[in-house]
Amino acid sequence: QPVIVAIDGPSGTGKSSTSKAVAARLGLSYLDTGAQYRAITWWMVTNGIDIEDPTAIAAVAGKPEIVSGTDPSAPTITVDGTDVAGPIRTQDVTSKVSAVSAVPEVRTRITELQRSLAASAEHGIVVEGRDIGTTVLPDADLKVFLTASPEARAARRSGELKGADIHVTREALIKRDAADSSRKTSPLAKADDAVEVDTTELTLTQVIECVVTLVEE
Ligand code: C5P
Repeated sequence: QPVIVAIDGPSGTGKSSTSKAVAARLGLSYLDTGAQYRAITWWMVTNGIDIEDPTAIAAVAGKPEIVSGTDPSAPTITVDGTDVAGPIRTQDVTSKVSAVSAVPEVRTRITELQRSLAASAEHGIVVEGRDIGTTVLPDADLKVFLTASPEARAARRSGELKGADIHVTREALIKRDAADSSRKTSPLAKADDAVEVDTTELTLTQVIECVVTLVEE
């Protein structure tokens, strides 16, 4: 019986590192759904689509072919065959991804991809995102919602983006979370049956242990 684990929460809570490590430990597949939304955003930007125009975005939402490699030790993401793992992490894409991912046609398209990857994962999968437990995989075996103080989240993100100003990072992060939490279609939210883990005072190793224990329970 494949095991399905949903890990949601805002950025900077350690979602990606935790999800990857838990999947590797338990021999499961791994899917970074934020990377899929970043990939479609990258395609919109590259093709000159006005990201302030939801109608224009909706009209082409079905065009790019987005493929995710789900091996937790080497996750990959391509758009129409091009490796976009680097380009999807730029400031430009990061600042535009909330607008693109708020378009219902984009969510429908990406949600379908996510469900089909989850259904085809032989041993199961750890899926991380914002709406996995509430919308994408409401029947997941385990739902975890990671949180952390804004200060801790900004500090972690600044650590990743070497040299970034922590105050600028904090403001950008808060702005993106507010946009993700307030959109009409499947916003960032904790499922009623999710286990909330506050990671503010925890090390990454502790968070991983905590989630592995929850899966094994
Ligand atoms: O996780 P990451 O920070 O890479 O996600 C980038 C963006 O993708 C989020 O800010 C959000 O706008 C969008 N996203 C989403 N639903 C998900 C995962 C990510 O809307 N399940």
